[in-house]
Amino acid sequence: MSSILRVQNLTKSYQSGNRTLTVLDNVSFDVQAGDTFSIVGPSGSGKTTLLGLCAGLDRSSSGSVFLNGVQLDKLSEDERARVRNQYVGFIFQNFQLMPTLTALENVMVPMELRGEKGVAKRALELLDRVGLASRQHHYPTQLSGGEQQRVSLARAFSNKPRILFADEPTGNLDTETSDKVEKLIFELNREQGTTLILVTHDLDLAAKTGRIIRIKGGSVVSDTLTEAVRQQI
Ligand code: ADP
Repeated sequence: MSSILRVQNLTKSYQSGNRTLTVLDNVSFDVQAGDTFSIVGPSGSGKTTLLGLCAGLDRSSSGSVFLNGVQLDKLSEDERARVRNQYVGFIFQNFQLMPTLTALENVMVPMELRGEKGVAKRALELLDRVGLASRQHHYPTQLSGGEQQRVSLARAFSNKPRILFADEPTGNLDTETSDKVEKLIFELNREQGTTLILVTHDLDLAAKTGRIIRIKGGSVVSDTLTEAVRQQI
């Protein structure tokens, strides 16, 4: 089996005046392609920072992240963006849709930036997949939170990601909508073998993934295979 994500001795510090604030301290783990994986822990423990470093949105202070064998720390910002465009999907708790673009345009724009052809048709198919074809011309403010999250999922699915990073994907949603979003994320894993890396407060959601790491104060305090996986071994 091959590692799609290898995190080695990852440390991230911020300088605040003459103080150094270490928010991630020597974190290491490996994720195999096709795995589903959760990162849990209290607020402020470094989960979002860790996810951003793994997805190449930010750079570590020391240590390494290998994404699909590529060492992100050695790349420029542009090169990291190219890696993300190629095979990374990212969804955020606050959706991060472009407010001036319709649902369809929000899905189309990254596809256009990647130089793809026939994007309007594909973008509509993706919106249809998340149940929102009828909302294609709506702007984000005209959509509910759950609908916005589903648009951001359609956008994340558009490059058929090998790995999907999701930061509290169901955090702002009611139960029914969060079930829908959850179902779509796991479908991507089952149908396309997309590796899932979730940051979540929802322990029921975490238990549906194969493995849970818990971080506290920037360090990994436990790394557990879930019941779902133990039953298969
Ligand atoms: P979590 O996702 O677990 O809530 P975060 O990764 O968002 O935690 O934040 C971890 C810690 O890092 C927090 O104490 C936060 O204040 C600090 N932090 C995050 N980003 C910055 C930054 N750009 N500058 C200084 N401190 C930061």
